[in-house]
Amino acid sequence: MTKNYHQIFEVSDCNSSQYDSNLIDKFLRGISRLMASRIIQNPVVAKREYGYVGFTGFIITESSHVVIHTFTALKEAVIEIYSYNYFDNNIILNHITECLNVRRGSIMIKNVNDIGKIEKSDNFIECEEPNCIRKSTKVWGGRKVCQDHYEQYRDKYEKNIYSMNEFG
Ligand SMILES: [Zn+2]
Repeated sequence: MTKNYHQIFEVSDCNSSQYDSNLIDKFLRGISRLMASRIIQNPVVAKREYGYVGFTGFIITESSHVVIHTFTALKEAVIEIYSYNYFDNNIILNHITECLNVRRGSIMIKNVNDIGKIEKSDNFIECEEPNCIRKSTKVWGGRKVCQDHYEQYRDKYEKNIYSMNEFG
């Protein structure tokens, strides 16, 4: 997989009712400038008039895409940045606080790459022996098995080897 940086900035307590499409446009252009990445698709900004009212906008640069959703009634915004080049979260945080007029403490960062890692490491794979619900930690004969079943199989196997040597 190409090296990439993928972050989500969740903003609460923001004055999203004050936002307009010009501000969203300015916000997106500002991010591309801060990431020093040339714009290849000017910001597209749409106003959502029904349901979760607010704005959705995106920009595409040579090395990234940036998407923003604002939620007027909830006073929230979500910004997603996917980039092939490293970017400094602090620079983005400053831009969000200044441009969208929010406190830094109202912004939460989620590293999408890490979310994937956490899910993988927490993934509980059950032992493939019938009626066994223990966590599989070993592989025996291509099947994922728990420590207990692994030891059972290993003991049996070793016994077979032993008897083959004795009588074979
Ligand atoms: Zn088992």
